[in-house]
Amino acid sequence: MNPVMRIVELYEDHPIMERLDRREDPFRVLIRTIISQRTRDTVTRRVSERFFERFDGPEDVIEADLEEIQEILRGAGLYRQKARWIRACCERIVSEGIDLSEVVRRPVEEARETLLDLPGVGPKTADVVLLFAGGHDICPVDVHVRRIVGRLGLVDSRDYDDVQRAVHEAVPEGKRGKAHLALIQFGREICRSEPKCEACPVRPLCPTGGGERG
Ligand code: SF4
Repeated sequence: MNPVMRIVELYEDHPIMERLDRREDPFRVLIRTIISQRTRDTVTRRVSERFFERFDGPEDVIEADLEEIQEILRGAGLYRQKARWIRACCERIVSEGIDLSEVVRRPVEEARETLLDLPGVGPKTADVVLLFAGGHDICPVDVHVRRIVGRLGLVDSRDYDDVQRAVHEAVPEGKRGKAHLALIQFGREICRSEPKCEACPVRPLCPTGGGERG
């Protein structure tokens, strides 16, 4: 068995998988993921709550002053830049009449292209929206996924698409979203920035931990 599938198995029954049982609102996922860039989870939660207490949708955001949006986002990394991105993103959504709920129901490549065209939206943000709002079977590449895939020696590249391809090739269809969540939890608990290799169940398969693939 490859190490990614082993990690998926380890977390198959973890409560984190419950996120896949519900469809989240695409606008909320989009904004929360933009806020989350270079920002700790606890800060992302707090700032996102503040944002959605003030704004219900893109129409509210474009009526607000940039300074107010910046003040709401204060605490998140790059908050001034994120305020500009979010405002520009909302302006595009409103002016072009983009219905995000309809977009995420499109075939994955078509939906991804539309999302990537929005200001402030990169591959990870687009893929998080496709997974949690659209229910597409896709593994967004975040800091945990990139670190673990590199340590496991699955790909000799840090490029977003290369890392994602390596995960997608390592798991059967239908398990890619699970792989994303399992790798995140594994990255929080075991393969942290300071890895706990001595307690790692996939160590025999990990070159960094001194396993057989090394
Ligand atoms: S053996 Fe160490 S580096 Fe390899 S996956 Fe486990 S914790 Fe990470």
